[in-house]
Amino acid sequence: MPGPYDAIVVGVGSMGAAACYHLAKRGARVLGIDSQSVPNTNSSYNGDTRVIRLTYQEHPNYVPLLRDAYRLWEEIGQETGATLLHKTGVLYMGFPDGEAIRGVRLASETHKLPCSTLTHGELAKQFPQFTLHDGMIGALEPEGGYLLSELAVETYAQAAQRLGAELLTNEPVIDWASDGNGVTVRTATGSHDAAKLILCPGAWAGGLLRLPDVPLTVTRQVLGWVQPGRPELFQPGTFPVWNIDPNGDGDLTGIYYGFPMSGDGLKLARHHPGQAMAPDAITDETFPADEEEIVLPLRRYLPDALGQVRTIKVCKYTNSADGHFIIDRHPESDHVHFACGFSGHGFKFASVMGKVLAELALDGKTERPIDFLRLSRYSH
Ligand SMILES: Cc1cc2nc3c(=O)[nH]c(=O)nc-3n(C[C@H](O)[C@H](O)[C@H](O)COP(=O)(O)OP(=O)(O)OC[C@H]3O[C@@H](n4cnc5c(N)ncnc54)[C@H](O)[C@@H]3O)c2cc1C
Repeated sequence: MPGPYDAIVVGVGSMGAAACYHLAKRGARVLGIDSQSVPNTNSSYNGDTRVIRLTYQEHPNYVPLLRDAYRLWEEIGQETGATLLHKTGVLYMGFPDGEAIRGVRLASETHKLPCSTLTHGELAKQFPQFTLHDGMIGALEPEGGYLLSELAVETYAQAAQRLGAELLTNEPVIDWASDGNGVTVRTATGSHDAAKLILCPGAWAGGLLRLPDVPLTVTRQVLGWVQPGRPELFQPGTFPVWNIDPNGDGDLTGIYYGFPMSGDGLKLARHHPGQAMAPDAITDETFPADEEEIVLPLRRYLPDALGQVRTIKVCKYTNSADGHFIIDRHPESDHVHFACGFSGHGFKFASVMGKVLAELALDGKTERPIDFLRLSRYSH
């Protein structure tokens, strides 16, 4: 130790691929190791797209991070020619006192973000695709849209390689150790030394991080694509990314959200922790109840979108106890940092989290406001 590498990144997924890129861009000698291919369809970024939005209701400190995230998504797009970020606007719908509408208004007022409120009548006129209960209103955020998530991971990984990073794929990391000088990472077929280690193994963090006091719950999540009865109503350009908080509307729970039409159909999903399972027990297998989860919000809110379910995919959330990410130095060593617990809303931050992880590893600190995401909140 420390060996030929300045840093090893374990898990070249959403956060890890961006970390490899930012490290390599700063001239570090990097080895990225992933147990699967890069990209793959068995991690937490599968299913083509992820929502990005700026009026973040989850915690006010996410907004400054998001401003950086937007800038860095644009930057990697310009550097590589890949159009990863698509601004379609995000239309939030719900009752005025519901969590989503209240949160969006609070975030837009606190951070002076562009966001317009639509009355029930204005909503019906501007977006006749939706059939909403009396009393539901809207908030339209023009900066919102979606990211091409699988392409983004591939783009960051390839850009890192062009900058000199080495990637080892289909090579599970089994263990790691650290001494006063650096780290050793043991894989299925060998071992690798470096000065610094970044751990971001997504749904598999529970085993590799050795943090028994940090509960992480992996849940099975479902994504669906339908062929709408009237596809012309849902085309990009006129139909935005949408988000409905049904709180108070009968038996529906969670948040339903979806995207404009793509070649695969109209994509939608439910943001609500699914069934808790071990990550390796979550497979591609789908069930009739999955289809029902996809069709239910269409019946209720988007009747013209009802049609044949073309595809169902399965994905994994890694939920922290409070729904916030965890990013910090590892308590066992100054040489090790980690990021986990992205709780079903982390992808949009991957561009900035990669940069933060690179700063933590190379500088031992970051200027970005991540204190609310640190491990110390678990010791209170
Ligand atoms: C259905 C669904 C919808 C979502 N929607 C949104 C959204 O709209 N907007 C948003 O911002 N976020 C969304 N998210 C959340 C977001 O996609 C995740 O928070 C993010 O992908 C997590 O990134 P990660 O780097 O932690 O994990 P991953 O991207 O899964 O990367 C982890 C990597 O570690 C590798 N790995 C694991 N164990 C090992 C090991 N032992 N050795 C080597 N490599 C290992 C894995 O193979 C994988 O490549 C959604 C998630 C899901 C599942």
